[in-house]
Amino acid sequence: MITFLSGGTGTPKLLRGMQELLDERDIAVIVNTAEDTWLSGNHLSPDLDTVMYLFAGILDTGRWWGIRDDTYITHDLLARLGVEEYIAVGDQDRAIHVARGEMLRGGMRLTEATAMLCRSLAVRATVLPMTDSPVTTYVRTDQGEIHFQEYWVKHRGDLAIDGVTRRFPEPPVATGEVIRAIEASDAVVIGPSNPVTSISPILECAGVREALRHQNVIAVSPFIGDAPVSGPAAALMRAFGKEPSSAGTCGLYEDFVDVFIQDVRDPVGIEGALRLDTLMVNRGKSLDLAKNILTLIYRC
Ligand code: GDP
Repeated sequence: MITFLSGGTGTPKLLRGMQELLDERDIAVIVNTAEDTWLSGNHLSPDLDTVMYLFAGILDTGRWWGIRDDTYITHDLLARLGVEEYIAVGDQDRAIHVARGEMLRGGMRLTEATAMLCRSLAVRATVLPMTDSPVTTYVRTDQGEIHFQEYWVKHRGDLAIDGVTRRFPEPPVATGEVIRAIEASDAVVIGPSNPVTSISPILECAGVREALRHQNVIAVSPFIGDAPVSGPAAALMRAFGKEPSSAGTCGLYEDFVDVFIQDVRDPVGIEGALRLDTLMVNRGKSLDLAKNILTLIYRC
């Protein structure tokens, strides 16, 4: 089994390749939940949804979120009724959020709710939220702290930020399922997800770093030079006090990473790093990178 740490874009692109090469029952994915939020009474978990939808074969891989060919009848009617949602939630996507909200209100752990949704969607991979308790990423702007989703989705990242904080009612602890998945794996792969908003929240869950130190860990950089392949990772790295580059990313993982993979185009030099083509612009490129990583793990 291989365990992946994932956000909602970079690592899912790698998983798209992995799912063609591995039996999906041999894949476990530990997913960031620090972007979760309640919207119109329902529970959004953007990264869990993307990973579940990918394995269910229904993900909109143009955007890397939401369900392919979804409709927006409820969202549009809500807007006419004066309920402005800052994310356009599709009707089928909303059904998942409604169901998960109900399960959580009924006292289920997020891990159990996710497993139940996965069963209903015929997902065979093991999809695990990093923790069962709420934790939320906020960014500091000159108008105060705002939810990361609000910064990125509502303001499209067009606000100066100078800090990143995590808020929680109690310090997040990795679930038993997360720790067991890491321990039972042949290797752990950290895909090229955002180091600040996707991977660090997982690493901050008590027990994760310690477990990773005893594992073979391969990490892929989301940066080429001083820019991420997509998204707001550069501004977030600066606000997090880290250099926006592969070097800054590698530094965040240095106490446990065994192999760090940089793109062949990356001008930043990191001693000992492995160079591969990491730009997964299509299914074939995802497959190639997945093959190279599996060769590394199984030396075959
Ligand atoms: P989010 O939850 O939507 O922010 O998604 P992730 O955290 O999983 O992934 C975002 C990161 O993926 C960004 O920092 C991008 O630079 C990176 N990324 C997206 N596509 C690629 C790709 O094809 N190759 C590499 N190396 N990084 C990518």
